[in-house]
Amino acid sequence: MDKPEYTAPHRPGECPACHSANLVKVITGNDWHDTEEDEELCRAGKAVKYDGYCGIDEMPKWQCPDCKQYIHKAPAERKYIFKFKPEQCPVCNSRRIMDVIYGEPGFGGELRRQIRNGEAVSWGCCIWDNSPAWQCRDCLQDLHSSYPL
Ligand SMILES: [Zn+2]
Ligand SMILES: [Zn+2]
Repeated sequence: MDKPEYTAPHRPGECPACHSANLVKVITGNDWHDTEEDEELCRAGKAVKYDGYCGIDEMPKWQCPDCKQYIHKAPAERKYIFKFKPEQCPVCNSRRIMDVIYGEPGFGGELRRQIRNGEAVSWGCCIWDNSPAWQCRDCLQDLHSSYPL
C-alpha cells in the first residue's frame, strides 16, 4: 500500500509522519528551478533530487530524510495579502522573497539570471484567482498582492 500523502501550505516544522525536524528540500530537476544554490544544498545534504516521476503538479516539495516521507505543497491555508512586495516572509521571517513570473519567459537575459539566483520563480502561463505575486524562497509560502496581477 502507498504511504499516506502529506501536504502543507509551507515548509512544515517537522515531518508529519515521524516528527523528525530535518526536512530537506526536494529538487525536481527542472532546469528552471535548478539554481546554483540548489546544487550547493544537495552537496551539503540539505536537498535531494527527486527520484520519482516528474509530472506538473505531482512533484513533492520536501522530504523527510529519516522516514523518506515526501510532503507536497498544499494551497495556502490563509491568504497573506500585501500592497507591496513584503520585505520578510510572515511565516518563517525569511527575507528571501521571490517574484512569481507568469507567461512564457524567454531563456537568457536578466530573468534567467534572477531565476538562477533564486530571486524569481517561473510558474508557467496560467494565472488563477488565487495566483500569488510572490513566494518565500525558504518555506514556499504564497504571498498575494492586493492588486490584480
Ligand atoms: Zn519522517
Ligand atoms: Zn517563509
